[in-house]
Amino acid sequence: MNFELDGPYLEIQQQAREFARAIEPIAAEADEMSEIHPGVLAALRESGLSDLMVPADYGGRTERLDPLAICVVREVLMATSAHADSMFALQGIGSYAITVAGSGEQREHWLPSVATAQALPALALTEPDAGSDLKSVTTELVTGPDGLLLNGTKSYISNAGAAAFYVTFAREESGYSMVLVPADAAGVSVTPTPELIAPHVLGDVQFDNVKLPASARLGNPGQGLDLVLATLGVFRVSVAGAAVGLAQAALEEAVRHTRKRVQFGRPLARLGPVAQMLADCWTEVEMTRLLTYRAACLAVDDPAASLNHSSMAKLAASEAASRVVDRCVQMMGRYGLVRDSKIERLYRQARPMRIYEGASEVLRLGIARQLTQEVQ
Ligand SMILES: Cc1cc2nc3c(=O)[nH]c(=O)nc-3n(C[C@H](O)[C@H](O)[C@H](O)COP(=O)(O)OP(=O)(O)OC[C@H]3O[C@@H](n4cnc5c(N)ncnc54)[C@H](O)[C@@H]3O)c2cc1C
Repeated sequence: MNFELDGPYLEIQQQAREFARAIEPIAAEADEMSEIHPGVLAALRESGLSDLMVPADYGGRTERLDPLAICVVREVLMATSAHADSMFALQGIGSYAITVAGSGEQREHWLPSVATAQALPALALTEPDAGSDLKSVTTELVTGPDGLLLNGTKSYISNAGAAAFYVTFAREESGYSMVLVPADAAGVSVTPTPELIAPHVLGDVQFDNVKLPASARLGNPGQGLDLVLATLGVFRVSVAGAAVGLAQAALEEAVRHTRKRVQFGRPLARLGPVAQMLADCWTEVEMTRLLTYRAACLAVDDPAASLNHSSMAKLAASEAASRVVDRCVQMMGRYGLVRDSKIERLYRQARPMRIYEGASEVLRLGIARQLTQEVQ
């Protein structure tokens, strides 16, 4: 058993670090934007990292997607910029249903441009009245004599407005299906969502009598939930990777501050309770990194079978990141509260991670369900 990343993963980590270094000067600006930052997009294209999100047959780097590689990149990017992390992650999250269930034509049309980040994808699941309870969506897909007709509203969709296409989850007869909607299809429009505490490229997407050919369907009718689960199988654990990166970055800010600030004749880091907070933070970062890498390794072999481990990693790492960054603000005193400082940015960015891609409480329900089935 080896707990260290080896050869190819170290190379990918190095590549991610170079990308992070390139965008560091614009990271604070990009992280306050709810539209795509052109400098970050140019740097993502330049980095070549989007090719991790597409299989080799369609311009990608590896035969199939590697959740550990994606985790490693997100860990590095989130420590510098949430905007860059989200942009990178969406290349895979928004296109994975095409990878697993698209026709040859759909894959050839879209995936090579996703691999180079020329096309930005979006995954449209959530609706104003359907969040955690995905089965309550009302967006409807109907098959008519001339093809498909889509009607409904999706909300809080990452990349909305910038995306080239929306992989859209819709109710169809008694089941749920997935359909690929080009952003320029007639009847598609985007309106802004309210600004979040940690801005994010988000929008609400309306589908108003959108006519699509039958070939726009992804997979078979009724396969929508399977495709959502397949996407989560690969990508949920990557949120844990991002959370570990955020916690590590917060901890480093706190270490730098508490090492040099002197109170009561000693650096803060040498005062007992502060030292304890530093130790607790480091311990939590190490614990959640190990859990995350292990879940990601399991997902490399079988993403669907390891979804519970991905959920545990996402739950543990996002909850730990919130605790860590909160302690770090505490250790930095008033300097931790300064608007637009790195620690303040990380503090705001930690919060949404406990809500998207499975709120903590919902993840716990699924984990407990699995546990009670497994124990004899
Ligand atoms: C930054 C950001 C980016 C996003 N990007 C996308 C995107 O690209 N595509 C997309 O489709 N959606 C996206 N979303 C939406 C996201 O998926 C939803 O916010 C998430 O599914 C939770 O749904 P909700 O916010 O409606 O919360 P609700 O479902 O209303 O839940 C609110 C709270 O109630 C509790 N709760 C809910 N259900 C249960 C339960 N069964 N048991 C116990 N407690 C429960 C939890 O504490 C939960 O946090 C994004 C959201 C954010 C914040």
